[in-house]
Amino acid sequence: MSEYYNSQKVRGLYDLKSSETFKLSRSKIDLFIQCERCFYYDRKLGIGRPPGFPFSLNSAVDHLLKNEEINELDKEWQDGYKRQMEIYQWLFRKNGYKVSDTGYFVYCNGKKDRKAFDGKLDFDVTLIAYKGDDSWVEKTIVEAHKCLNGNKIPAADPSCDYCNYIQAINSK
Ligand code: SF4
Repeated sequence: MSEYYNSQKVRGLYDLKSSETFKLSRSKIDLFIQCERCFYYDRKLGIGRPPGFPFSLNSAVDHLLKNEEINELDKEWQDGYKRQMEIYQWLFRKNGYKVSDTGYFVYCNGKKDRKAFDGKLDFDVTLIAYKGDDSWVEKTIVEAHKCLNGNKIPAADPSCDYCNYIQAINSK
């Protein structure tokens, strides 16, 4: 097992018999949206997903992707950011606050065109308006709860390369 990944989780798992309130983080709600099966493995069986690519690769890809972000917020990989904002809008509303539908992403991108580091880093800062819709949040939490109460591991997503890979291995 690598130093970056421990597949076995023991804390914060769902226990059907427990009478305590089960806390579900925003990122786990997002995991449920991405894949019910992964969510079930993670929150009920304690087997977490491996992390993404190492940071060195991420930062280069991140830079290029974020350059695109300035022009539009309609890329699939940006959906997670939108859902994050909508969950916070929903949470504030549930706590009695009046919340605007429009939220703002502050995007800071380190300038890479400077000739030298010279002990400082300059940033381009952009404000991106986004009109959120939190109507999906409550029903998704209800569905996630239902998923955890079930005793069947949800089906794999046929479009997921990882599960197809595992199935191919298991079929040998
Ligand atoms: S379908 Fe993909 S995302 Fe879902 S459990 Fe399999 S590996 Fe995880």
